[in-house]
Amino acid sequence: MPDNAQIAARLAEIRARIDKAARRAGRDGAAVTLIAVSKTHPAETVAAALDAGHRHFGENRVQEAQVKWPALKEKYPDVVLHLIGGLQTNKVRDALALFDVIHTVDRPRLADAVARVGGEMGRRPSCFVQVNTGEEAQKGGCLPAEVDGLVGHCRGLGLDLAGLMCIPPVDEPPSPHFALLRKFGRRNGLDGLSMGMSGDYETAVELGATHVRVGSAIFGARG
Ligand SMILES: *Cc1c(COP(=O)(O)O)cnc(C)c1O
Repeated sequence: MPDNAQIAARLAEIRARIDKAARRAGRDGAAVTLIAVSKTHPAETVAAALDAGHRHFGENRVQEAQVKWPALKEKYPDVVLHLIGGLQTNKVRDALALFDVIHTVDRPRLADAVARVGGEMGRRPSCFVQVNTGEEAQKGGCLPAEVDGLVGHCRGLGLDLAGLMCIPPVDEPPSPHFALLRKFGRRNGLDGLSMGMSGDYETAVELGATHVRVGSAIFGARG
């Protein structure tokens, strides 16, 4: 397990790389949010990043976050928690109780549930529409042909729509997928782009990412 100083150093290193990549693209690195993906890592490891001043975290499972985060959120109330894994409609209430940003809105019925349950709870999370840019059978996300319709559906519901999200296929170069997501974003007037992980976040920033989701480069390999 990495120690506190290691985690602080990795966060600083990644932030510096993000800033450099942004500058190469004529962008301001301050416009890029680094989401520390803490899935599978215990609360003590997460606390090291919190103590280093980091505040944006990503988890992919509601149940795991329910175990780990309530106590951490009490101690660090300004944490911003991002859900980056698939969401079932029957878990929306639990998700909205904990998460501030949902990156995985990928079908009209899920958008409906987020709007309805959010209204009941007085919660209006920032949302990203997930796009399955590689059209992979096993992967979440709407198909490229469905993006414009789903964005319109979310807007009609009054969701706080921040942008689009993608996870490129593991066995393909990511750049074409990042570029495609940016194209869909521009076409729909959406600036937010959640793309880029440990292996490709610099490329993603060069292609316009506003949110990068980095796990293993900060916390080490997952068991
Ligand atoms: C796990 C995960 C990440 C982080 O992956 P790393 O390669 O460890 O940086 C990013 N995005 C999603 C959706 C994930 O599930």
